[in-house]
Formats: sequence, C-alpha cells, structure tokens
Amino acid sequence: LSRLRRTEPSVRSFIHVADAAAEREAEDLDRRIATEGQDAVGPLAGVLVGVKDNLCTANMPSTGGSRILDGYRPAYDATAVRRLREAGAIVVGKTNLDEFGMGSTTEGSGFQITKNPWDDSRVPGGSSGGSASAVSARQCVVSLGSDTGGSVRQPASFCGVVGLKPTYGRVSRFGLMAYASSLDVVGCFGSSVFDTAAILSVIAGTDKMDSTSSSHDVLDYKSELVPLDLLESKPLSGMRIGIIQQTLGEGVETGVISSIKDAASHLEQLGSVVEEVSLPSFSLGLPAYYILASSEASSNLSRYDGIRYGRQVSADDLNELYGGSRANGLGHEVKMRILMGTYALSAGYYDAYYKRAQQVRTLVKKSFKEALDRYDILVSPAAPSAAYKIGEKTNDPLAMYAGDIMTVNVNLAGLPALVVPCGFVEGGSAGLPVGLQMIGSPFSEGNLLRVGHIFE
Ligand code: GLN
Repeated sequence: LSRLRRTEPSVRSFIHVADAAAEREAEDLDRRIATEGQDAVGPLAGVLVGVKDNLCTANMPSTGGSRILDGYRPAYDATAVRRLREAGAIVVGKTNLDEFGMGSTTEGSGFQITKNPWDDSRVPGGSSGGSASAVSARQCVVSLGSDTGGSVRQPASFCGVVGLKPTYGRVSRFGLMAYASSLDVVGCFGSSVFDTAAILSVIAGTDKMDSTSSSHDVLDYKSELVPLDLLESKPLSGMRIGIIQQTLGEGVETGVISSIKDAASHLEQLGSVVEEVSLPSFSLGLPAYYILASSEASSNLSRYDGIRYGRQVSADDLNELYGGSRANGLGHEVKMRILMGTYALSAGYYDAYYKRAQQVRTLVKKSFKEALDRYDILVSPAAPSAAYKIGEKTNDPLAMYAGDIMTVNVNLAGLPALVVPCGFVEGGSAGLPVGLQMIGSPFSEGNLLRVGHIFE
C-alpha cells in the first residue's frame, strides 16, 4: 500500500484508489487469522488486486473509463470480482482504461493518462493499461483486465508483466461492461505465471448469470506448474510449437523479431520441436475484427442513454436528453466506433461488411484449428513494437488499429493465449520489454501456463 501511495501520483494507474478501505480489510483479516487460524480465511487472503474499471464493483465507482458513467456505483460485484473477494483478496482500486475498452494505449480514458512504469514518456498499452502498469509498478500483486482484441496481452507486453486471455467463456462476463459480447473475456495480470495461475483458478468456472460461461472443468492451475527445482534438462520434449510465419515480417520491429526468435530457440533447448507455420487468413483478421467489434459495440452501447446510469443532464425532451448526455458523456473514439458499427449493420451495407466479416471469422477459426491439430502451441509477438510514445498515434487511429494485428485473431477464434516477457529492445533508461504470445486450443490454459512457467 505504501508503494502504491508513493508511485500513483506519477504512474496514474488507478481511476479510484480504495487504499484506506483496503487497509481496514487487511486488519480485519489479521484479526480473524489471530483468533480463528489461517484456515478461516481464503487462499488469497490479503492479496491486493487492481480491477479494471469496466468491471462492476459494489459500492465503488465503476466508470468503464467513460464520463457518461461518472458517479455510477453498481449495486453488485462482477462475478470475477466476487470470486476473488470470497477467496480473501482485497480490491485496492479501479484501474484506468481506454473508454469502454476501445483503444490500445489507455490515452482514450475519459479521466487521465496512465504512464508506462518503464519509461514515463510512453504508453502502458491498452485498453487494460492501468491494470498492466499497476502490476508492473508493483502497486498491487495481481489485477483483472478484459480482452476483446488484445487488451490484456498487448499491455502485458508493453509493461513487462504476465497477461492471460482465457478461452472465451472460461470466466463469467457477468458484471463486465459489454464492448463486443462475442469477443469479450475477463483476463488477468501477474508479475509471475504462478500468480496468474492462482488468480485464474479462482475466477474461472461456470456462472448462472452468464449463459455463455463454460462448464468445462476448472483445474487448480498452480498445481499444473512444474516446480523449477524439479526440472529435468528437457522438460518440453514431445511438445510441438509453431511460430506463426505472418507475424515475423514487414511492419514488425527488428528487436521484437529477434526477441521472439531467441525465445523460440530457448523453447527448443527445453526439448520442444519448433517450426514455422503459415496461417493464410491471418492478415484478414484485423479488418474483420474492427467491423465485428464496432458492430457489436454500436448495439451494446445503446444502453448509455443518460437515464439509466451515471450523470443526468437537464433537457426539455427525450431527444435532447439522449443527445445531450451522449454528446458530452462519450469520447471521440467511442462515437467513431458507434458510427462505424451502425454503418456496417445498416440495410444495404450489412452483406458487404458484417456478413463478410463473419465469413472471415469462420476462416480464421478454421485455420487456427488446422494449425492447432498439428502443434500444441502457436507463438508470435504480442505486438509489432514495444511501448511507443504518449501522443505518437493519437491522431492516426488506423496506425493504432494496425498495432492489434498480433492479438485480434485469437479473439475471433475464442482461443486462450498467454503473454510472458521474453526480451528487451532499446528505449527508455533500462530498455523496453517485449512479450511472447503463446496460443493454445480451447481450455488449454493449464498447458499454456505450464510452458510459460518453465520458460520463465
Ligand atoms: N485495441 C482493440 C480495440 O480497440 C482491442 C481492445 C480490447 O481488447 N478491449 O478494439
């Protein structure tokens, strides 16, 4: 907590800090342990978690990074948050994000700009930038984020922490403010694979409040990890790993490519067979993603009408009320996405955009399935570059969208993916971290975490 208080004025990971409440909760836990013993408290007793502000938290502000929800306090916890609290974790605050998850730098927050702890002139990535920077700056132990097109994995890479995007449906979305419901997942950050595994075991599982949550068995993911001192020399022998060819070409920083190649040879030294694999539909994923995500967003965001949640504006009639609250409450990027999505879904354009994007989604799924029939894990960079400068891409949305090329396909296919730090490129005073993305078949989180842990 003292570290959080010291670093927060410069890093600005949190929209809302609940440090005093966290301190009281920790003291309560101490008392319970003293009187009833360690077994009386949950497995995460006292672990400080940061929660992305698009996850609802009872009695704490939950803004989704949007001014339209300024002052909104939900009456309930998101399921992932409730499960963490039941396990004894303490929510220390709500982390900053691009408004409703739409962005890749966290500069799109309606409240503040978060700095990358490795170099405060650079972005932490996004949209879960506050959750990534909070773990990176050790302001909390672990954090929750959401990943619709890369929002856990890219900031994990930019901030040098571990980030997990679970299989679609692995973690309940109840209480997550919907961006694109067919792509959204709740994910988590840790400074180690072990911490990330510990959190997943608690938040994963079916939930009657989310009909798309899966009843697939939840493992104790921590116990999947081989203790480091028991490693034989070739712990990955028998494993087949494919490097996605399309991710190491044009437009990718050379330092990123060499970090990924070094990581691949390390995986080989650990006993796995590493080969290049081509995913022919890879480059189609980005345009398809932006059509589908915007289309779903244009429908999901209609609930922000200025009546049900957040700040009220005064108006003489209904249209003025809607118009006034949306004009003032929503930011530029969100308005642009709503317009793009509405356009793609409108009669006359639907077949040319939405329907074709859905067809591409089917192709992307199929090509991943074929590759994952031949390889246990596919690897790629998590982003084409390391963290870039604040302001560098704010006036060029297409350049920012292009930075999502490594991650969006995974959401289209609903697959799990883990990002672990794997190298550095030059920049800042100590270098800038680069993340390795490891992609697996549905519900193979245990295997991804095991390999990530050995690799770590
Ligand atoms: N950057 C992507 C977007 O803006 C992904 C965001 C996310 O995963 N929430 O849509």
